[in-house]
This record gives sequence, structure tokens and C-alpha cells, in this order.
Amino acid sequence: MLTNRSKIVAKKELSLAEKLYFPAILAGMAITLKHFFTKKVTINYPEQKREHSKVYRGQHVLKRDEIGAERCTACGLCALACPAEAITMTASERKPGEEKLYREEKYASVYEINMLRCIFCGDCEEACPKEAIFLTDRIIPSNYERGGFVFGKDILVEPVNDRVDVSLRQTEEVREFKKNKNYAHNI
Ligand code: SF4
Ligand code: SF4
Repeated sequence: MLTNRSKIVAKKELSLAEKLYFPAILAGMAITLKHFFTKKVTINYPEQKREHSKVYRGQHVLKRDEIGAERCTACGLCALACPAEAITMTASERKPGEEKLYREEKYASVYEINMLRCIFCGDCEEACPKEAIFLTDRIIPSNYERGGFVFGKDILVEPVNDRVDVSLRQTEEVREFKKNKNYAHNI
């Protein structure tokens, strides 16, 4: 024994009620009953949705530029920054005539994020020099298959006619910064 702080606990004899588990059952039922009358902590998702914090980090979006070309240039910085190694991509060279599809000469022909690996830290967004990837306030939909959580470009790239507004989860300072025309990649 290294200290004198040990305590010898005597084994108490159980009473008859305790042996029958009645007090414990009644206490449990009382707790259950109490919760019938308290405010519910759950909601009927997806019919009801909770309000998110302004800086909530949910499903990513790969942005297009003002004419609809994909901003991502497959530089790989997001994948390098990702602590969960959730991002994979294949870089390809843009062909003549594809200028309206891809903003730069190099683009990601394959871009995937494994949402089961992702920890929604936002480092990919921070690392991107092209303002191409952002996290949004969208929740990742549930799925029965693991493969369904690997999101490819078909899910990640925003539709040309249904752009995803990411400014809502940015602070006023960031929105002001993005108006600065000296930063060409922000336009
Ligand atoms: S949010 Fe974090 S973990 Fe998820 S893909 Fe981006 S860098 Fe990786
Ligand atoms: S999303 Fe951004 S950081 Fe990632 S590969 Fe594309 S341009 Fe590079």
C-alpha cells in the first residue's frame, strides 16, 4: 500500500425491496414519466430543421466562376492540407474548346471527398488558392452504403443554374475582404 487513502468497503446486505429491484424499477419509471412532460430535445428532421451557427461547416461545394467554369485547378493543396486524408483527385489537361468548362489549363477530372473520413475542419477551404472549395450549411444526407458517402464531382460541383451561396456563413470581414479587386482569385 503506497498511501493511507485506501478505504475498506463493507459489503452491505440487501433489503427485501432491493432484492426485488422495486425501488430501482419505480425510480426508472418516474424518470421516464417525468420526460413525458418536459420539452423534447429531439425534432422531426428532415421536416423540421435546426438553426445552425453562422459558421457551421457542412457539405462541401466546388464552385464555378462567374461564367460557369469550374474554379478548381487540381493543384492538390486541399488534399495536402486535409488531416483526415479524405480528398482524392485526378488532374487532367484542358483541351482547346473547353475554356468555358474549366477556368485553368489544368482541372480535376476526378475529385472525391470521403465524407466518412471528413471531420469538417475546413482546412481544405483555408488551403485553396482558387476559392474553389467551400464548406456550406448543408447536412450530409444519410445513406445505407459506405460507398454512398464518397462524393464525386456530380454532387460536389455546384450546378450552373443553381449556385450555392457560401457568403451566408462568412463573417462581415471576410465578405469585405473578398470585394478587394487586388486579389484576382477572389473575383
Ligand atoms: S473539411 Fe477537413 S477533413 Fe474534411 S475534407 Fe476538408 S480538410 Fe479534409
Ligand atoms: S479545390 Fe482548390 S486547393 Fe483543392 S485542388 Fe482545387 S484548386 Fe487546389
